[in-house]
Amino acid sequence: MNLKKPELFRQQCYIGGKWVDAEDGSVIEVHNPATGECIGQVPALGRKETSQAIDLAEKAWRLWRQQAAKERARILRRWYDLIVESQDDLATIMTTEQGKPLAEAVGEVLYGASYVEWFAEEAKRVYGDTIPMGQRDKRIIVLKEPVGVCAAITPWNFPSAMITRKVAPALATGCTVVVKPAAETPFSALALARLAEEAGIPPGVFNVLTGPAREIGAEMTDNPTVRKLSFTGSTEVGKMLMQACASTVKKISLELGGHAPFLVFDDADLDAAVAGAMASKYRNSGQTCVCANRLLVQRGVYEPFAEKLVTAVQEQLRVGNGFDEQVNQGPLIDLGAVMKVEEQIRDAVEKGARIACGGKRIQGNGFFFEPTILLDVTPEMRIFHEETFGPVAPLFAFDTEEEAVAMANDTPYGLASYFYSQDVRRVWRVAEALEYGMVGINTGIMSSEAAPFGGIKESGIGREGSKYGIDEYLEIKYLCLGGL
Ligand code: ADP
Repeated sequence: MNLKKPELFRQQCYIGGKWVDAEDGSVIEVHNPATGECIGQVPALGRKETSQAIDLAEKAWRLWRQQAAKERARILRRWYDLIVESQDDLATIMTTEQGKPLAEAVGEVLYGASYVEWFAEEAKRVYGDTIPMGQRDKRIIVLKEPVGVCAAITPWNFPSAMITRKVAPALATGCTVVVKPAAETPFSALALARLAEEAGIPPGVFNVLTGPAREIGAEMTDNPTVRKLSFTGSTEVGKMLMQACASTVKKISLELGGHAPFLVFDDADLDAAVAGAMASKYRNSGQTCVCANRLLVQRGVYEPFAEKLVTAVQEQLRVGNGFDEQVNQGPLIDLGAVMKVEEQIRDAVEKGARIACGGKRIQGNGFFFEPTILLDVTPEMRIFHEETFGPVAPLFAFDTEEEAVAMANDTPYGLASYFYSQDVRRVWRVAEALEYGMVGINTGIMSSEAAPFGGIKESGIGREGSKYGIDEYLEIKYLCLGGL
């Protein structure tokens, strides 16, 4: 890897301000999904090291929470500056381990950094309350305090931003964090830790450890010192972690799977809808939890929308190694991801769907898949019910607004949804009717550090980003001052 700052590529974990290996030297190899090559290795740490990291985070918490908010803000701001300065190196590391095109990786690094900047600012604005009381000799005062040691488990699809979105608000309030990044993408996390060290974040405040997920996860959920778990990943694992956290009644934030509907009404601006669908569906090769997963198109515009979308896919998307400048579609993360996509396509075609373009894996090294559009898809097919996490756009037809909303809501998921319409009354009606935490109206991209990201139903609990995001890391303490 060709880095301006080679020390950003770390193959050790960062615990209590020290770079450490596994005692017995055991490691996990990390591979480049575009080439299959081994990039490097990280320590395979287990329960014991996780417990040690939690103890160190607890010691650090006692000091960190005492710092003036302004001082924490200043240190976070320095971390932000270093991330921005190192954007090229961080993007190179990310493309190597995750596969996304380099320009998209730079975009993620800056997007991730924006949470650090935002929460560095918010750190200074954690306001309490005074509340009038019915008794003259008493006063009600509300304080907001950091919850304590937090654990974070993050996925591979956004190796940098999913970490900053949790760590920045936690550190801003005075919490300390132990992070377990995904085994597929640990190097982005370790590079962030290196920059945190350089920024002056004190030892033990931000820790990153790698190793078998089950072991580390079990310690994080069972250890009573951990007061909060924040997880981004699959609904299946999220449910298990939520259950495990019950034994010590931890606070939890969960950002789980999505199954985003993307509705195009007869009165939509079709070119804008196609552009939105392209951006939402094919970002990160379809591997985001807010990617359009079901394109529901009103009968009157179904044919022209499909035609325009096929043209856009064929003209705009280039699949290949993310370091190639022409490429805007990287590989999928692993063989399992390719097989899941193949299986959904096979099931749909067997039940009557037509492949308008794509449909196959690309032979050779790496886990590449052709950007695909399926027509005549129906709710009987698996793709209507399952999250895809790949570059497949299934098009469903609908007749009425009621039918579209019912189809959109027919899922246990409730993360992102999108729709295109130019009728302001319909815009308001549909926005209120969609059972989702987020609704993109005439846009396919809505993530921002200033907005509350999160889902309802089985897509999660809590919000990340915005003024609401900091509440996830705060406890409310009520002081009743009597005898006045
Ligand atoms: P994905 O399908 O995105 O890989 P996962 O939910 O499997 O979703 O992974 C998200 C994160 O959860 C990763 O860091 C992974 O290592 C971790 N993880 C997976 N299984 C467990 C588990 N049993 N306990 C704790 N963490 C887990």
